[in-house]
Amino acid sequence: MNNYLANVISRTEQMNAKEPEYLQAVREVLTSIEPVINIHPEYDRMALLERLVEPERCILFRVPWVDDNGKVVVNRGFRVQFNSLIGPYKGGLRFHPSVNLSIMKFLGFEQIFKNALTGLPIGGAKGGSDFDPKGKSDGEIMRFCQSFMNELYRHIGADVDVPAGDIGVGGREIGYLFGQYKKIRNAYEGGVLTGKDVCYGGSLARKEATGYGLMFFMREMLAAHDNSVAGKTVTISGSGNVAIYACEKAQAMGANVVAMSDSNGCIYDSEGIDLDCVKQIKEVQRGRIKDYLNKHPQAQYFERNGETSPVWSIKTDIALPCATQNELNLEAAKILVSNGVVAVGEGANMPCTQDATDYFLANNVLVAPAKAANAGGVATSAIEMSQNSMRFYYTFEEVEKKLDNIMVHIFNECEAASDKYGQHGNYVAGANIAAFEKLASAMVCQGIV
Ligand code: NDP
Repeated sequence: MNNYLANVISRTEQMNAKEPEYLQAVREVLTSIEPVINIHPEYDRMALLERLVEPERCILFRVPWVDDNGKVVVNRGFRVQFNSLIGPYKGGLRFHPSVNLSIMKFLGFEQIFKNALTGLPIGGAKGGSDFDPKGKSDGEIMRFCQSFMNELYRHIGADVDVPAGDIGVGGREIGYLFGQYKKIRNAYEGGVLTGKDVCYGGSLARKEATGYGLMFFMREMLAAHDNSVAGKTVTISGSGNVAIYACEKAQAMGANVVAMSDSNGCIYDSEGIDLDCVKQIKEVQRGRIKDYLNKHPQAQYFERNGETSPVWSIKTDIALPCATQNELNLEAAKILVSNGVVAVGEGANMPCTQDATDYFLANNVLVAPAKAANAGGVATSAIEMSQNSMRFYYTFEEVEKKLDNIMVHIFNECEAASDKYGQHGNYVAGANIAAFEKLASAMVCQGIV
């Protein structure tokens, strides 16, 4: 391996030894940009990579709140403002008990590259808390969000840092966060958060954007290999925001989606998933995916039992991991390949382990990498920010068309970069290289900061 790259990876490993997810994300990017580093020896003298892997700022804070029994609970809040090279920090907030600095840094690092790929002026960030929204009352969610914003507000702003949703943070949470921000600031600064409800400044099609965008990327990737989504069998992990709207667009494109999951297990419905039923369970009742069987007794439910999700054992043409990081491991990849999978589309961030991705690529399975394939959410957030600045709204169709064009552009960038460096069809490398070339040029322009 290139000496400079090897030194930066080893230095990053030493400095962040207790952050496995973060190191995984850094290794994945740095190893795939080797052909670019080889022709830019000056990056070593400029410490370009050392600067790229060091967040501009990590903010950790206390979040005290009162539960329904009057007991005070203390959670930890995070905001990693990773990189502002090409625009205000931008990236979602995740509320999940697994949240820690490693996960925040991996997500923030990925976000820099993803945002660069969109072609829009947005930097990279991520934030959240180890707060677990599951089983909490509406009042508890609101009090937590208000306390979280009591600290976060001083670090964000429409031209500074613009958070959005992620796991555990949907329209309800963004509403409570925005309400508290507005109260503290005594000003209506709509562009400070995205993912807002359309009734107070959100963008039409933002809710659908990540899942729809994933399918637009999948459509382009398959078309480049003389294939299409129509008539394919699709399995999806997760049943949250990304999973639901990926399912909706896959069905609209003529695919038969037969499985979805949550952290407890997965449902298999060979007749095709009834998405209205899933939406009712997940978006309205906030229930479990198993409840699907109440309305559809012909479907099957497989309880999760160990590391590998049962959803990957179901025979499919297209697999869409849309739940969380490292949810699709080598064992799952082997099962999918032996069942004839054609393409994998990463809706979640870093859902495939590195050895799973390597296995897919070695077996000629097309992989749509998260940085590129799930960038439709943040791209539409940027469209929400522009609408807020213009004090003007686009129609659903206008936003969806813009999203489609952006996903086509991202696919073309990934394909061009992979071809340029002799890695035709490897969109994982293509996404990393295309984003890195843009970021490196901006770093050279802006000097040592
Ligand atoms: P949601 O909270 O809406 O849904 C998350 C889904 O994943 C749920 O079905 C949840 O099941 C499941 N899940 C979460 N954690 C785990 C786990 N540890 N093991 C198994 N299943 C799990 O989140 P989103 O749909 O918004 O996000 C899903 C993924 O997509 C994340 O990786 C996120 O970073 C990424 N993403 C999201 C974007 C967006 O716009 N929302 C944009 C780009 C990427 P359960 O209810 O049982 O926890």
